[in-house]
Amino acid sequence: MSLERIKTLIIGSGPAGYTAAIYASRADLKPVVYTGMEPGGQLTTTTEVDNFPGYPDGVDGPTMMVELQKQAERFGTDVRIGMVTEVKLNSELGGIHKVKVDNGKEIEADTIIISTGATAKYLGIPSEERLKGGGVSACAVCDGFFYKGQDVAIVGGGDTAAEEATYLSNICSKVTMVVRKGQMRASKAMQHRVNSRKNIDVKYFSEIQEVLGDNVVEGVRIINNQTSKTEDIKVTGFFVAIGHKPNTDIFKGQLEMDDAGYIITDGKTTQTNYPGVFASGDVQDKEYRQAVTAAGTGCMAALDAERYLASIE
Ligand code: NDP
Repeated sequence: MSLERIKTLIIGSGPAGYTAAIYASRADLKPVVYTGMEPGGQLTTTTEVDNFPGYPDGVDGPTMMVELQKQAERFGTDVRIGMVTEVKLNSELGGIHKVKVDNGKEIEADTIIISTGATAKYLGIPSEERLKGGGVSACAVCDGFFYKGQDVAIVGGGDTAAEEATYLSNICSKVTMVVRKGQMRASKAMQHRVNSRKNIDVKYFSEIQEVLGDNVVEGVRIINNQTSKTEDIKVTGFFVAIGHKPNTDIFKGQLEMDDAGYIITDGKTTQTNYPGVFASGDVQDKEYRQAVTAAGTGCMAALDAERYLASIE
């Protein structure tokens, strides 16, 4: 299969990837986007998006992603369905980076923008899988509003779970937080926030045995891992906040990453430790993880790529 030489390759098609594509194509970098396994990214698995500026009546996730794609294509972005499977980055200034795509195609690129995102971890129990979209969610900020005035449960004991439990406690009547150990992993400040909320009930040493309900969530069955006692708690929403896995496996051994595998970028920029290689969106952000922040860093990555190309010309 033929070898292709391009200026800018964008890997990933969430808000970060498409925003990078809009900026890069308007700057005449003629970007090629490889969508990855889940074209449109994590937002295609959510329903209503009510917090992206510019949509006063909200928009559903898949529609928003189709619109972002169209916007990128309007300026000439070449969007291709496919997975980048192999990457050989060049550490020299102005060096050519090489990638392989799953159809065997090889591409050489002056710049690469990595926007491969992160994947929310789930517990992996069948009832949770069955009720995804029926009251099981991995994003309280996205879906919490649907449970206004209702009782919900959240599993996890890290900063995300603590932050999301606090967020939910502002909206919902009662939040049951299920923590598998005798203490939370979250920072003391976050724990303090959780403990100061009267409507958050923390169940320590507890695990989710089953999410209850046929088509929609009606409750959760928890088990105390010290006493083996089970308890059914009536809830209409169940939130999973046990961490995310950044999609960075193909870059391991080349790009600098933190212990959890998130790509490290330089200061306020999207620059990775390889010249001409930039990272945007959730793949380099474990704290904010919002569509709008991902889009913002996508814009930054395209501007960084444009400036880099100008500097080596
Ligand atoms: P973490 O990996 O820090 O925490 C995951 C939590 O989920 C832990 O309490 C863990 O329990 C629990 N857990 C994992 N698997 C299971 C399971 N199968 N069943 C039940 N519980 C499980 O992930 P976070 O997403 O919370 O945070 C990721 C990173 O982002 C951290 O570095 C965090 O500090 C940072 N962050 C910072 C924020 C901020 O500063 N505002 C906000 C959000 C995140 P256990 O403790 O028993 O292992």
